[in-house]
Amino acid sequence: MRIAMIGTGYVGLVSGACFADFGHRVCCVDKDSSKIDGLNAGVMPIWEPGLEAIVKSNKERGRLTFTTDLPSAVKEAEAVFIAVGTPARRGDGHADLTFVFEAVRELASFIQPDAVVVTKSTVPVGTGDKIELILREEGVERVSVASNPEFLREGAAIADFKHPDRIVVGAEDERAQEVLREIYRPLFLNRAPILITGRRTAELTKYAANAFLAVKISFINEIANLCEAVDADVQDVARGIGLDNRIGPKFLHAGPGYGGSCFPKDTLALLQTADLAGVDQRIVRTTVEVNDDRKAQMVERVARAVGGDLGGKRVGVLGLAFKPNTDDMREAPSIPIVNALVERGATVAAFDPVAREQAEKVFHGIEFANDAYAAADGADVLVIVTEWDEFRALDLDRIAASLRGKILVDLRNVYDRSEAEEAGLTYYGVGRGRPQAQAAG
Ligand code: NAD
Repeated sequence: MRIAMIGTGYVGLVSGACFADFGHRVCCVDKDSSKIDGLNAGVMPIWEPGLEAIVKSNKERGRLTFTTDLPSAVKEAEAVFIAVGTPARRGDGHADLTFVFEAVRELASFIQPDAVVVTKSTVPVGTGDKIELILREEGVERVSVASNPEFLREGAAIADFKHPDRIVVGAEDERAQEVLREIYRPLFLNRAPILITGRRTAELTKYAANAFLAVKISFINEIANLCEAVDADVQDVARGIGLDNRIGPKFLHAGPGYGGSCFPKDTLALLQTADLAGVDQRIVRTTVEVNDDRKAQMVERVARAVGGDLGGKRVGVLGLAFKPNTDDMREAPSIPIVNALVERGATVAAFDPVAREQAEKVFHGIEFANDAYAAADGADVLVIVTEWDEFRALDLDRIAASLRGKILVDLRNVYDRSEAEEAGLTYYGVGRGRPQAQAAG
């Protein structure tokens, strides 16, 4: 199949490269010429494990090309995927569809008569209907618009795309179903479940999936708070409930709350859709509130660990990206946490294995350390914010030797209290019994 991918960000680039790897001919379009120039020169715009190799090999085979010229890509395509951003609209949290509709108007003049337009971007229910209308307004007579939401996770995006738990296709006509089945054929051969639904159902399925995962995270975070009050261990509670197949073990890690480019905006957008439909979604609304409070609670935890006043304290921060294995800083929990530490008078020295370049655009007035030990050096407290693998095997004796305050606040429960204490550190995890300061007080 010949595919045009409009938007060459995290989703468009990974999807485009993987489709090319399936044997399709893919042209990835982006209006950001520096991104396209970089890709044509072999420079990846994002840090994603395995991406560079798959882009390189498919470029060499001539199956994957990059351009800023949308008409040339669309003219050739049997399927035109839209993978542009759908950020939260300022003020009301509704999904901002400006980029999507702009792309639709741009492609309308060049699309082939039998081609299918597919939304891969996460879009609210009814967006496919609006796209159909726009295409008709622009004089496109035979339109086929399908929804194919993407469920990949940054940091494991290639594996997720190639071995998905399921593929969801929302299509109202045979032609669209046929084209999408053909595109995903290599995955059906691998027995990936495909769910063909109505278009509106597919659009909603994506939001429901993200909202449910957000609920799971906020749920375990509240249970973690309870564990601290009653001297129980949330890691064991999570394991105890996660082994139940009806619950499952994933997304039950207590921590500083969810972030990233999807959950925060998608939960808000779901609430907006519900509002417009006149249907209250109390669980998701509360989840958002719980998550918003979470960051402030984490800052308070650091403050308590150093005796209550952050003024003049030096805080080492490990991990800034919103999760490990990505350089994506969008809505990272580190942002409100670090900013609040600075506002309360602390000096922050932060280290992230790959997100420094992105983080430098976000944070002002903090120091960037070159490794974990440098972040700890001379600090009153060391805080683990993102659980990069390299933070799992730190030499705690070395950390303790250079950490002035000998306090480790582990917001990801990477370490056991006993191993931290053996190294001479005072340890605060999340939801693992009563924190010592509280217990003593
Ligand atoms: P992104 O911001 O990384 O990439 C979007 C790209 O689209 C940008 O490079 C931008 O320049 C380009 N663009 C915008 N308008 C354009 C136009 N008219 N023509 C050509 N290019 C255009 O976004 P992303 O993280 O890849 O997310 C894209 C969509 O996928 C969003 O709806 C998101 O919710 C959804 N999604 C994201 C993830 C994820 O993990 N990032 C996972 C699943 C779904």
